[in-house]
Amino acid sequence: MLVVPDDVALVVDFLNTVDVDEGADLLGDEDGYQGWATHRGLRPTKRELTRRVRDALRDLLVDGDAAIPRVPLTVQVAPDGVPHIAGGDAADRVLAAVLGLVDRGEWQRLKLCPNPVCLEAFYDRSKNRSRRWCDMAGCGSTMKARAYRQRRRRSG
Ligand SMILES: [Zn+2]
Repeated sequence: MLVVPDDVALVVDFLNTVDVDEGADLLGDEDGYQGWATHRGLRPTKRELTRRVRDALRDLLVDGDAAIPRVPLTVQVAPDGVPHIAGGDAADRVLAAVLGLVDRGEWQRLKLCPNPVCLEAFYDRSKNRSRRWCDMAGCGSTMKARAYRQRRRRSG
């Protein structure tokens, strides 16, 4: 099925396989990639491609412009006559989940935290899609305090 209940969680988790601040990348080597994918019941194939897909999706969230690498997808028809993306490869499943989000008008709810030492992907469940930070108590208050100090410095 194109729409799976946990597709949001999968996409967010996928986007967070890189920790920009720590410089850690789960898709950076075969071991990390296999661990991540296997844990989610996905086949860890095409690591480089999968990684490029992730980086392109993150770029897309930052400035709304990115070239998504070509991923050949196989579409199968289920017994109930509904077409779905077949295969359990990590890139296939993630892109199927992304298409599900786009289809339901939920892609715009995916965001990257603008805190430069965080940059974590999160799903904005707020009614008017106004959430800016991955979490208000952590990055929200850090960034607000920073903006406050900058304003004071400028005016002082
Ligand atoms: Zn954050």
